Amino acid sequence: MDKVECVVIGAGVIGLAVARRLAQAGREVVVLEAAEGIGTVTSSRNSEVIHAGIYYPAGSLMARMCVSGKQALYHYCREHGIPHKNCGKLIVATTPNETEKLQSIRAHAEANGVLDMRTLPGEAARALEPALDCDAALLSPSTGIIDSHAYMLALRGDAEAAGAAFAFRTPLERGKAASGRIELDAGGDAPITLECRLLVNAAGLAAPAVARSIDGMPLELIPPAYLAKGNYFSCSAKAPFSHLIYPVPEPGGLGVHLTLDMAGQARFGPDVEWVDHIDYAVDPARGERFYPAIRRYWPALPDGALMPSYSGMRPKIVPPAVARQDFLIQGPRDHGVDGLINLFGIESPGLTSSLAIADHVGDLADA
Ligand SMILES: Cc1cc2nc3c(=O)[nH]c(=O)nc-3n(C[C@H](O)[C@H](O)[C@H](O)COP(=O)(O)OP(=O)(O)OC[C@H]3O[C@@H](n4cnc5c(N)ncnc54)[C@H](O)[C@@H]3O)c2cc1C
Repeated sequence: MDKVECVVIGAGVIGLAVARRLAQAGREVVVLEAAEGIGTVTSSRNSEVIHAGIYYPAGSLMARMCVSGKQALYHYCREHGIPHKNCGKLIVATTPNETEKLQSIRAHAEANGVLDMRTLPGEAARALEPALDCDAALLSPSTGIIDSHAYMLALRGDAEAAGAAFAFRTPLERGKAASGRIELDAGGDAPITLECRLLVNAAGLAAPAVARSIDGMPLELIPPAYLAKGNYFSCSAKAPFSHLIYPVPEPGGLGVHLTLDMAGQARFGPDVEWVDHIDYAVDPARGERFYPAIRRYWPALPDGALMPSYSGMRPKIVPPAVARQDFLIQGPRDHGVDGLINLFGIESPGLTSSLAIADHVGDLADA
């Protein structure tokens, strides 16, 4: 049986960042990926926003890792020439009641360490974005967008340059943890059996299933898996915005917001649709509720401009009735299995937080 120091399950943005971090620390790393390439699942089905860290509960892993990960990500993008834009985001209030809420959103952001938010009267917001209809807005200057695929290619390149090896079409099927070592059976085109000292479960939507397949991992510590689909609609009209535009959040969601890709193309969403199986098709009927929501801040949205685009699945570990979840990162101190690190519930802002998550995993591995 082949022996290797570390195995990472999954080559999404999190597995890639972790593999890079471990390999650059001088560890021997093999990444097992079920798909044929990097980043084919949730990491290529998101908004590609570099989030500021505004809304997450103060002190949560999401808040801390988003704020530190954002800084690390901007730095990484500059150093590696990754296409990105620090375009900023406006949170727009369209009623006096919403305008009152801006202050508490700003206070919450500041508690998370997002200290650069600016409150703008309606006129100042319209000076930035003339097509906007709003009473007031909050400007988040540190929000941005990124070419996430270029980022993942760079992470893979760094990992390989530091000696990491990748095995694609190689799904982990089962493992067995005993005496500080973990035996792994992977299937696919060329099934392999490996033994490692450190196993990082970065399998995204499948992370709870992968944890269950490791003999020795206490089942009661594995969270349940739920799916909350996020549907996007693209806009056939040229959207006249250069910032990302978000309404004031409503209970249960961020509202129908506008994000831009690196080519300047606008898309709206994601919404929240709890589902019980993975189906990425976007139901055109869901677009009907987008129109009135968008027209609250962009009254000139033309009829018929919205087209079903793509969707992504949020890897939820709490049911719909629980409004918020946090990242759940378990090391040996949490579950008692030497050498096993599980990454559960890495939904948004996972892309933004990826380098911070990787550092955290590196620290757990060293502990
Ligand atoms: C709708 C939506 C919008 C989002 N928008 C943003 C955003 O704007 N900004 C932001 O910061 N974050 C955003 N996110 C979050 C971000 O996309 C995720 O946090 C991130 O992509 C998770 O990466 P991952 O590597 O954990 O998972 P994935 O990308 O899903 O990678 C997991 C990998 O594991 C592999 N795998 C699974 N099972 C096995 C197995 N048994 N053996 C081997 N390999 C296996 C899969 O094939 C996959 O490649 C968004 C998420 C969603 C759903």
